[in-house]
Amino acid sequence: MSKVLVFGHKNPDTDTICSAIVMAEMQKKMGVEAKAVRLGKINKETMFALNYFNAEIPELIEKVEENQEVILVDHNEFQQSVDGIEKAKITTVVDHHRIDNFSTSEPLFYHAEPLGCTATILYRIGKMNQMEFEPKLAGLMLSAIISDTLLFKSPTCTEVDKKVAHELAEISNIDINKYGLEMLKAGTDLGDLSEEQLINLDAKTIEKNGTKIIIAQVNTVSIEDVFKRQNKLEEAIQKVIEKDNLALFVLAVTDILNSNSELLVLGEKTEIIEKSYKLENNRAFLKGVVSRKKQILPMIDKNLD
Ligand code: MG
Ligand code: MG
Ligand code: MG
Repeated sequence: MSKVLVFGHKNPDTDTICSAIVMAEMQKKMGVEAKAVRLGKINKETMFALNYFNAEIPELIEKVEENQEVILVDHNEFQQSVDGIEKAKITTVVDHHRIDNFSTSEPLFYHAEPLGCTATILYRIGKMNQMEFEPKLAGLMLSAIISDTLLFKSPTCTEVDKKVAHELAEISNIDINKYGLEMLKAGTDLGDLSEEQLINLDAKTIEKNGTKIIIAQVNTVSIEDVFKRQNKLEEAIQKVIEKDNLALFVLAVTDILNSNSELLVLGEKTEIIEKSYKLENNRAFLKGVVSRKKQILPMIDKNLD
C-alpha cells in the first residue's frame, strides 16, 4: 500500500503547509505511513517559516489516483482540493472551515472545530493522545497560528488559539511578537510578483446556486502600495473572470498592521458587494475587516440569498 498523502488546500498558506507536515509526523508516530504534500507554490511567508525551522518543503502533486488514501487538513470543499479528490479515499479531515461541497462514500475521522487555525486543532489532538511535539514541529504550528490569526488580531482568533500559541512558543523557544511580525512581513513582499500571480496567491473559489465567485486576499503593510497597480490588477482579474466564467472577483488587500482591508471588485454581479458597501472606482474600504472566512465570506453569502 502506498503512503497516505496529507495535504491542505490549493494556493497553500502557512497553516495548510505546516499542518500537513505536522499531521504527517503525527501519523508516523501512530505507525501510519504518511507523507505531507502540497497543491501549489509556497508563498514567501510560509517559506520564511520553513527556513526558520529548517523544515523540508513538501513535494508538489497535481492530482491523486483513484482510491489513493488521503488526509485533508485546513480545507474540505472539493473545489479547493486536489484534482481527483472525488475518487480518492479520504480517511481523515482536520479542519476549521465551514463544511460544504464535501461527501465521502466511506466512514472517516472528521475533526472540525471553529478555532482560528488547523494547527491549534492538531495540537489538541496530539495532547489527547499524549504526544510530545519537538521544537521544530511546535515552531511550525506556532507559525500557522500566527498566520491564520494575523498575530491574534483576526476575529477568527479564539482564546484557545492564544493559549496553544503560547505553549508552542515555550516549546520552540520563540518570541511570538518578534518572530510573528517578521514572518508576516516576509509574506507582504509582493514586489516581484506579476499581477496574475498576485491575484492567485491566496484565491478561493466559491459557488452558490450556479454563481461562481473568486475571493482572493493579499496581506500588505501598505494598501496604497498595492493599489498603485490597480489598472494592471484589473486587467489580470478581467482575464480570470472571462476564463473561469465568474460572476464576481473580489480581491481583498489586507493591511496587517492596522487591521483594515480594501476590496477591488470586478464582474457582472458587483451588486453582491454593493448591498453592503458602496463601490467607488471598483473599490471599497472595509474598516476593521481582516478575515475572509468570518467577515467577507458571510457578507457575500448573505447577499447571495
Ligand atoms: Mg488556509
Ligand atoms: Mg487555516
Ligand atoms: Mg488564510
